[in-house]
Amino acid sequence: MKVVLASNNRHKALEFKQIFESNSINLQLMLPSDVYLSGLDVDETGTTFHENSFIKAKEFYLAAGMPAIADDSGLEVDFLDKSPGIYSARYSGPNATDEMNRKKLLSELINVPPDKRSARFRCVICYYDGDISIYGDGSVEGEIIFEERGSEGFGYDSIFVPKGYDKTFAEISSELKNNISHRRNALMDFMNNYRGLAI
Ligand code: IMP
Repeated sequence: MKVVLASNNRHKALEFKQIFESNSINLQLMLPSDVYLSGLDVDETGTTFHENSFIKAKEFYLAAGMPAIADDSGLEVDFLDKSPGIYSARYSGPNATDEMNRKKLLSELINVPPDKRSARFRCVICYYDGDISIYGDGSVEGEIIFEERGSEGFGYDSIFVPKGYDKTFAEISSELKNNISHRRNALMDFMNNYRGLAI
């Protein structure tokens, strides 16, 4: 069955493709550009990862006329009461770049000692086909380091070291990231729920 990815974030698209392939997920992932929707930018008006993932999946389903799968994700930093959370992409303002967001976060944690820098990436997947919605929830624990390291990935990858590792998400291979990430864990959870419904 074909499903359209409800995101024009090329980094998320690459990771989805790799995770689908390495886990033999038997859904045919279409990109927005495959269905003439590369200009579709959905307003994230929800107040939770779940609400925002549903809003995006529904908009893309309505526009594409085929089942859609959305990812709403972000970084929760314990010292900042789980900020930036759902506002991760817009942390330093409406026209924020990834670099601006990382700088803002590092400056907010400048005097925070190593044992108080715990954080996690979270990801909620929502599949919507006009009839049912199916979710998947995933996270990866880790900590925020003091300065950027590595050049792979996107977003907050270069300042996040996953638990049990000594390299950032931007220093490890995409294969390893996609084996342990919040996105991978959310997709696995989603596939369990999806198979359970035997659509
Ligand atoms: P969304 O489009 O609202 O889901 O925004 C997600 C934001 O969270 C991204 O723009 C990044 O800032 C951050 N984020 C989510 N997943 C990752 C990841 O795998 N690596 C780094 N940053 C991420």
